[in-house]
Amino acid sequence: TKYVYDFAEGNKDLKDLLGGKGANLAEMTNMGLPVPPGFTITTDACRAFLATGSEPEGLRAEVADHLARLEESIGRRLGDPSDPLLVSVRSGAKFSMPGMMETVLNVGLNDSSVHGLAAQSGSERFAWDSYRRLIQMFGKTVLGIDGERFDDALEEQKRSRGSDSDLDLSAEDFRALVDVYQKIVRDATGRDFPQEPREQMALATRAVFDSWNADRAILYRRQERIPADLGTAVNIVAMVFGNLGMDSGTGVAFTRDPASGAQGIYGDYLQNAQGEDVVAGIRNTVPLQQLAEIDPTSYDELLGIMSTLERHYKDLCDIEFTIERGKLWMLQTRVGKRTAAAAYTIAAQLVDEGMIDLDEAVRRVNGAQLAQLMFPRFDADAKKERIARGMNASPGAAVGKVVFDSYTAVKWSRSGEKVILVRRETNPDDLNGMIAAEGILTSRGGKTSHAAVVARGMGKTCVCGAEDLDVDTKRRRLTAPGGVILEEGDVLSIDGSTGMVYRGEVPVVPSPVVEYFEGRQVADDDPLVTAVHRIMTHADEARSLGVRANADTPEDAERARRFGAQGIGLCRTEHMFLGERRQYVERLILADTEQEREEALSELLPLQRDDFIGIFAAMDGLPVTVRLLDPPLHEFLPDITELSVRVALAEARGDANENDLRLLQAVHKLHEQNPMLGLRGVRLGLVIPGLFTMQVRAIAEAAAARRDAGGDPHAEIMIPLVGTVQELEIIRAESEQVLAEVAAETGVALDLLIGTMIELPRAALTAGQIAGAAQFFSFGTNDLTQTVWGFSRDDVEAAFFSAYLEKGIFGVSPFETLDRDGVGRLVRLATREGREARPDLKVGVCGEHGGDPDSVHFFHEVGLDYVSCSPFRVPVARLEAGRAAL
Ligand code: ADP
Ligand code: MG
Ligand code: MG
Repeated sequence: TKYVYDFAEGNKDLKDLLGGKGANLAEMTNMGLPVPPGFTITTDACRAFLATGSEPEGLRAEVADHLARLEESIGRRLGDPSDPLLVSVRSGAKFSMPGMMETVLNVGLNDSSVHGLAAQSGSERFAWDSYRRLIQMFGKTVLGIDGERFDDALEEQKRSRGSDSDLDLSAEDFRALVDVYQKIVRDATGRDFPQEPREQMALATRAVFDSWNADRAILYRRQERIPADLGTAVNIVAMVFGNLGMDSGTGVAFTRDPASGAQGIYGDYLQNAQGEDVVAGIRNTVPLQQLAEIDPTSYDELLGIMSTLERHYKDLCDIEFTIERGKLWMLQTRVGKRTAAAAYTIAAQLVDEGMIDLDEAVRRVNGAQLAQLMFPRFDADAKKERIARGMNASPGAAVGKVVFDSYTAVKWSRSGEKVILVRRETNPDDLNGMIAAEGILTSRGGKTSHAAVVARGMGKTCVCGAEDLDVDTKRRRLTAPGGVILEEGDVLSIDGSTGMVYRGEVPVVPSPVVEYFEGRQVADDDPLVTAVHRIMTHADEARSLGVRANADTPEDAERARRFGAQGIGLCRTEHMFLGERRQYVERLILADTEQEREEALSELLPLQRDDFIGIFAAMDGLPVTVRLLDPPLHEFLPDITELSVRVALAEARGDANENDLRLLQAVHKLHEQNPMLGLRGVRLGLVIPGLFTMQVRAIAEAAAARRDAGGDPHAEIMIPLVGTVQELEIIRAESEQVLAEVAAETGVALDLLIGTMIELPRAALTAGQIAGAAQFFSFGTNDLTQTVWGFSRDDVEAAFFSAYLEKGIFGVSPFETLDRDGVGRLVRLATREGREARPDLKVGVCGEHGGDPDSVHFFHEVGLDYVSCSPFRVPVARLEAGRAAL
């Protein structure tokens, strides 16, 4: 293997091998830009070193060879006592990991070459400054000495000069500092600072390799999801000096504003300085524009190079440069990081400038950025009193009065108050309150707790698991550390993007991007909105995957439609059994006779029908997939403990209520150890006579009514939690009979589809059989993930997901991003076998994954017909579906 590449041998596409820094130094070299000569030791060499603990065979000789060529081209030898070549030894991995790994400058200086450098440069001060920098950086990064010891010595030296700037230090001062630094090295390591230049270089190279596995680098990779086995390259670069006087200096720059995307000159410059000084804040930098006065020739050259780089990379670049006595050198470039807003505006600008086409613009942005742009934000400049921090469960900025129960939340919001619903944790009973609230705050539960999942689904701000908070719902008070107490009605602000909780009102600024999706008037010269519009339009043209929404109410359906949904992929019906309708559910469950049961059902029928009429109207002309009742029945019944207490108290008073007694009995009977694996989904339909047929009738009658009214309903009936085709066949036969009845009664021909969710492994494995009875499949990837992994979603996250993430068992929760290897394999298999059995089978997905960018790409690959996600995720899914197709 070849382990070393001269800059002239590489190019920007070799990042895997040469790292980002090395690949781009090579690219700039080959573009003819002024890059100091050098070479790159490959990531292959690093991986081999890390695997074995020693340098791979042949590396040493190859490095020696390239160094000899470098010496020859410059006409100096590394560390030569009379005229030394100096080099930097720089880390550079495939993905930029700013400040995570090591770089050592001025390698090659020692007690004798420092004199040669002084003589050649004509500056004693510069030579000793460079030497002390070498010992400082080498001591810290290669020898592992606490950097503060060097910093303190430098401060001390400045103090003894009565100055706080290194500019006031003389050659003598730096020389004295070199003595002190060498003592520090001896002290800390028991050895002298290594004098042999080649040994310095070899040790620094090893240190760079090792820095790949420094704690902070590991942590950073985990956070940024950078694979752990890439390794880093090492760049050996001839030194150029920005610390040779006031006609020298060093700087950083962006070719456009990375915050807004605006074109212009953005950067900082520092005279008489080296390397890290610009960002380390040792002295105040000046804006790059001032270089126009300091050194107009270099400034013009730099602007020219910046525009060359932009045209070459066709993107925003950031750069590092150094000026040595009026001569400009380029030390680094890369396509620069940017904010979400800048990503969109820059992509659109580059299209206008003819550098990229719209396809490429769509590739340059992503759904995560779009989601960020859709949330209102707290004004960054406002002053805030933080009282706690929880998990950033669902982004956004919410302000409102604290309420502790759903009832109050609804009541207050009806009278126009904005409220924050504060609970220890939420349950399905809190749904109305959650809908009414601006935001939700809980003191318990993780990112897949009920509060978090529901809030994300609704696009509602949520901070969960703020464990420092004590939520006392009985006394209606919230206590934060430091004795801060908030009573019901006190104002609170929560930031779902950061997890911060603030007392009082923090001002927010709305998102113009949401205003745009909502169709509200937005200034049409707003560059961000214009960019989003153009990119979304193009993504829509490109995509083959449909995008529907999960919506349970006409309001949600309307919003979803405005956001571009092409139908509803999941209309849950459980909320249609809550609130005042609970009494009918209780009666249904308590019914002893067929007549009682039918009475309860016939009370529910018209209510459900009206629900559906509203939703079909909102989605007129587009498909609406209605899922029949899914959750375990206990969710509709009173809490077992509360009810037991109520009954016990009543019995003690001697006025036990017959109904309560029966209810308690029923609650006991329905109590399950594992409700999620118990009586729910299709099993309800099979066990409770008339329940599903009532729902089917409501759907059919609603569709007929809409048709009568001139509407164009497209209802699809979806049976949840099917594990075997027999279950589906029974429900299907019953449903078809109802459909026929309704058609006969109303005289309206109904063409409703009947299909099923695929959310149990057995359903996926027998998809061919199931497709015989289903006109469509919708993958319920939440339940499918639970059942494939054997994870209880409500429990595992708090219990051990953080340990799993830490140990790298998975990089991201399988509830957030679809597990392609396991769950995904079942999705692939079921889609294929389902379509083999029924070629016109419609296949979609509903559940959290439908709005997750990575999962959307997977569903596109598998060839699904559509994804369905919460209304707020619809634009994200549209964009990612477009990106997947390009
Ligand atoms: P990082 O990846 O942390 O930015 P770098 O390897 O880019 O680390 O180097 C740190 C600093 O040293 C940068 O400011 C860089 O421009 C400067 N530097 C690196 N190599 C040289 C060199 N050969 N001559 C002058 N300055 C250099
Ligand atoms: Mg750098
Ligand atoms: Mg499910």
